[in-house]
Amino acid sequence: MSHEHLDSYAFDTLAIHAGNTADPQTGAVVPPIYQVSTYKQDGVGGLRNGYEYSRSANPTRTALEENLAVVEGGRRGLAFASGLAAEDCLLRTVCAPGDHVVIPDDAYGGTFRLFAKVVQRWGVEWSVADTSDPAAVRDAIRPSTKMIWVETPSNPLLGITDIAATAQIAREAGVRLVVDNTFASPYLQQPIALGADVVVHSLTKYMGGHSDVVGGALVTADETLGEELAYHQNAMGAVAGPFDSWLVLRGIKTLGVRMDRHSANAAEVAEFLTGHAKVAQVYYPGLAEHPGHEIAAKQMRAFGGMISFRHVDGEQAAVEVCNRAKLFTLGESLGGVESLIEHPGRMTHASVAGSALEVPADLVRLSVGIESANDLIGDLAQALG
Ligand SMILES: *Cc1c(COP(=O)(O)O)cnc(C)c1O
Repeated sequence: MSHEHLDSYAFDTLAIHAGNTADPQTGAVVPPIYQVSTYKQDGVGGLRNGYEYSRSANPTRTALEENLAVVEGGRRGLAFASGLAAEDCLLRTVCAPGDHVVIPDDAYGGTFRLFAKVVQRWGVEWSVADTSDPAAVRDAIRPSTKMIWVETPSNPLLGITDIAATAQIAREAGVRLVVDNTFASPYLQQPIALGADVVVHSLTKYMGGHSDVVGGALVTADETLGEELAYHQNAMGAVAGPFDSWLVLRGIKTLGVRMDRHSANAAEVAEFLTGHAKVAQVYYPGLAEHPGHEIAAKQMRAFGGMISFRHVDGEQAAVEVCNRAKLFTLGESLGGVESLIEHPGRMTHASVAGSALEVPADLVRLSVGIESANDLIGDLAQALG
């Protein structure tokens, strides 16, 4: 299905059809895995449909990249070997030594590590702001600021940033707004429609959806930045491979139905946790008492599948809950059909220890899968004791 005909379709239709043109050779309804590095040229410089070498472009990756642009409502989609590879490409394309980025006070630990341990060594500066407070974001902007970087909902504390309000601040300051949309997915939240310039994804999570692939993406609102990023994607080389691209393209087809079930299950789990004697605090934007609830309700279709909570008895008790869970698998990552449990302080967010992004030691994070909600609640009940 070609791009021009897509405008009138709803998300679920686009997720299945965008980029999924029937194979011109055979009519195969799913793009083949073009497991190939190079392409026969019809005379020197005579490329067939622009394909030259699979770092520059590969048809399976192109199918995914077209799909990504459409499902995020952007102009250009680019697929990378991981979420962090996508972030690295964005940072090194937009920032030069001396430039500054405002980063959130709650973020994926690997994103923080990329700023603090990698690009900082190359002269890119950063400072931390509570992005749930638009005034704090405005105050953090410097003359050298190039980007405001937000995660909403954030990892692991499920903080909510008002994307439209932050986009307004970014526009007034002449800086770009980057939204990491990994936790929400484009089914639940469309940052570009709300004014973001770039959407970042770990495709590893909800987009892939089955814990069987690592990937990342950038989607831009405008073509010029899209071109610059595509140039750097090829020049730096951390592209998504054909099979990985195929897996993610397949995952995106069921994104809508999965996110509906993730959200419904998480709402039930959050309610169960809220009433539990061993739980001190539940972080889930679907709860009316969550400080970002109203903004989340305004900018998200539903509240997603991620929940964190604090144990009343402290760090060791939180660790023991993780160890006792049976149906919730103890592991890093998130967004798969199977439920996962983890201790951010010692696992996904060990790299933020001692920083402004440090997470509570008694915190447990859940990626609520699409199993039976009753079974999930039963497992948490036994794990909490
Ligand atoms: C996992 C994750 C990333 C990094 O993606 P990788 O695919 O692991 O490189 C970035 N942002 C968020 C919110 C994540 O959860």
